[in-house]
Amino acid sequence: MTRSITILGATGSIGRSTSGVIQAHREEFRVEAVVGGRNATALAKIAQDLGAKFAALADEGAGEALSLALSGSGIRGGAGHAAVLEAVDRDADIVLAAISGTAGLAPTHAALKPGRRIALANKESLVCAGGVFMADARRLGVQVMPVDSEHNALDHALAAGSDRDVEKAVITASGGPFRTWTKERIARADAREASAHPVWSMGSKINIDSSTLMNKGLELIEAHHLFDLEPERLDVLVHPEAIVHGLVQWSDGAVTAGLALPDMKVPIANALRNQNRLKMDLPRLDLAAIGRLSFEQPDEGRFPCLSLAKAALRTGGAMPTILNAANEIAVEAFIADAIGFYDISELVERVCSTFFGRNIAAPSTVADALRIDQEARQAARQLLPTLTGTAR
Ligand code: NDP
Ligand code: MG
Repeated sequence: MTRSITILGATGSIGRSTSGVIQAHREEFRVEAVVGGRNATALAKIAQDLGAKFAALADEGAGEALSLALSGSGIRGGAGHAAVLEAVDRDADIVLAAISGTAGLAPTHAALKPGRRIALANKESLVCAGGVFMADARRLGVQVMPVDSEHNALDHALAAGSDRDVEKAVITASGGPFRTWTKERIARADAREASAHPVWSMGSKINIDSSTLMNKGLELIEAHHLFDLEPERLDVLVHPEAIVHGLVQWSDGAVTAGLALPDMKVPIANALRNQNRLKMDLPRLDLAAIGRLSFEQPDEGRFPCLSLAKAALRTGGAMPTILNAANEIAVEAFIADAIGFYDISELVERVCSTFFGRNIAAPSTVADALRIDQEARQAARQLLPTLTGTAR
């Protein structure tokens, strides 16, 4: 049976890998709609390559460019908020959610429709509003399948036993480009160095998050919501080869792990197919050729973002929403070369402590989450000038 798919974030790194999976398996999938941010030419090309019926850009001002790029293709296009919502509303069995950052929350949440499956790459949706998002998904009977490689592996590993027997669920981190660097050297790193990921090729925001290990912190929060596991049952292990993605340790000491070569097409296909594996024309894992897999504890001294995210997860309430918002402002400023590497964690820590005493409850609606998000961004922007350059 052919399944129809709408892709949010079609022009990005995950969006393109998804296109690759769909193009190699035309008999399995057809594309209903594609959504991008502002890149009209790239979106029009993808819409045509995939035979989509509708293409939408979030940027209102890009409508004319999109119409021009789609002219003669027979594909309808639209721009702005209403067009994105139209794309999300159209009939599709699966919505692959791969917009980057908190900008993905509203469209991904709007995509929750009875009977649908969400293949979720946009982890920020769950970090910002995980309680609301998962409750609404359950209420509407929407299955949320993780695309994030660690969670996809965990989803599979967890199916090998019963939830009450899970002692620990562990996600791995490659360690990022600074895994072996000294703290003094990391302090002088710029965005270009931070983006040179040793294993994965990804979008700019997640690249920086990987270099600070905030990505792993966000993933712990993501895992907490996806699998309903308490913070004490979640852990991180650094594994530079990025072959083992997630491990479940059971109450008898046995461990079930998910292994794959690091290629996002594997978890994407798996999420689209709900763990019914596709035959994929990809290189096979040759453990004898690799020879050795290594593991180490993350160093939270050199990567303080990980401990900040763990603290936000333990604190609960709105703290993950606040951490996520502050991090997005910090990452933007770091990419713009306005602050140094350790100013990212410094800013996140300062914003979190500003809100700490207020004990703000976890958001009860998406609008509530976005209001807290805006308030935290505002606080982060106000603090930015006090940081500039301090950690260089
Ligand atoms: P990219 O930066 O490569 O792509 C982001 C996509 O989102 C682009 O299509 C972009 O469009 C679109 N976009 C940006 N802003 C908006 C908006 N306001 N409305 C609609 N669309 C928008 O990111 P990645 O593909 O790397 O990551 C996407 C998500 O997947 C992130 O949440 C990330 O954490 C997660 N993820 C990514 C992995 C990876 O390997 N890359 C692995 C695991 C998770 P345009 O091109 O027009 O700007
Ligand atoms: Mg991941």
